[in-house]
Amino acid sequence: MDTLEKLKILSRDSQYDLACACATREDEHRRRSQDGKWIYPVILPNGAPTYLFKTLLSNECINNCKYCPLRAGSTNQHCSLSPEELSKAFMSYYRSGRVSGLFLSSAVTQSPDATMERINRVALNLRRIQFKGYIHLKIIPGASPAAIRQSLALASAVSLNIETPGENNFKYLSTTKNYLSDIIRPIELISALTKKGGAYAGVKHTTQFVVGAAPETDRQIVGYSWKLYKELGLNRIYFSAYQRGAGASELPGERSALTNADLLTREHRLYQVDWLIRKYGFKLDEIPFEGNGNLSLASDPKQAWAQMHPEFFPVNINKDDKGRLLRVPGLGLVMVERILQLRQSGQRIRSLDDLGRMNKIIRQALPYITF
Ligand code: SF4
Repeated sequence: MDTLEKLKILSRDSQYDLACACATREDEHRRRSQDGKWIYPVILPNGAPTYLFKTLLSNECINNCKYCPLRAGSTNQHCSLSPEELSKAFMSYYRSGRVSGLFLSSAVTQSPDATMERINRVALNLRRIQFKGYIHLKIIPGASPAAIRQSLALASAVSLNIETPGENNFKYLSTTKNYLSDIIRPIELISALTKKGGAYAGVKHTTQFVVGAAPETDRQIVGYSWKLYKELGLNRIYFSAYQRGAGASELPGERSALTNADLLTREHRLYQVDWLIRKYGFKLDEIPFEGNGNLSLASDPKQAWAQMHPEFFPVNINKDDKGRLLRVPGLGLVMVERILQLRQSGQRIRSLDDLGRMNKIIRQALPYITF
């Protein structure tokens, strides 16, 4: 196979890893550009739209994660790129202006450190020829501290997928990886090295949960996410809905009735809660889980919280502070900033029409506000 044929296969197999950029919009996760399946549109932390070159180095894995189409014994077409082949392909896209950065992952070939050596060699090749742009490297579960340090010295961002909240859930997913030593300890090490004052401060650190392949509840996922943000200082957490047919996992228990579309809705609800925590000031104990520990698939969590807390409303658009305004269903960050600007300029807001563009989402605010 030539390089382009291999890229077609390896970029297709990288589609389930959604941690493409530190600040990509939710709807960008699965969208690809028309120009080659390995080019992904993303939004960088400064808000600039750009394109990343996203691929695996190899899709032949020694591990057996049940949710994964690349697990050992799967019958997908196997291939690998050499680090030099990939470096050359990337630079040709970069020099022609079609991409500005690289997202590189791999199935585990031979051993975690042998795989890390190949991943790091690509980044080393690029840095040696003075490529100063964005490089996101996947840290392979079970990678040694030395391999992790080398990645951190070369990358703009790294991610090691946590996959699921807790050892008990992890047992449903893999018998060849050890949750504590292969995943949690390396994540803790990366956090220590990338935190403020650490040897690699400034390198972004993200992770991803696969949602629905184990019997985890949303409460468990959100609880783990809270700790990852607050205690380990991760920059972003991503959620990837398990899709029936992609791997060998059977959906457990009461969730077995969920369709693939339901699983994508579940993923969306987790992103909404992630947003409530990171941007809207919600605490873990304010998230409206249902009795079974899951989020409602039928309603937006911010709306669900508002319905459970009538004592909090109405919020006065002309008087209340930013924290209270952000709790109103239908009012997002942009609209709240607009309200605050109008107030600062001395304008009294008399109706939602004064805020400019009216749409279905903003109208959701009506039962919760006064002027
Ligand atoms: S380690 Fe697991 S998730 Fe990663 S490629 Fe191998 S089988 Fe898939």
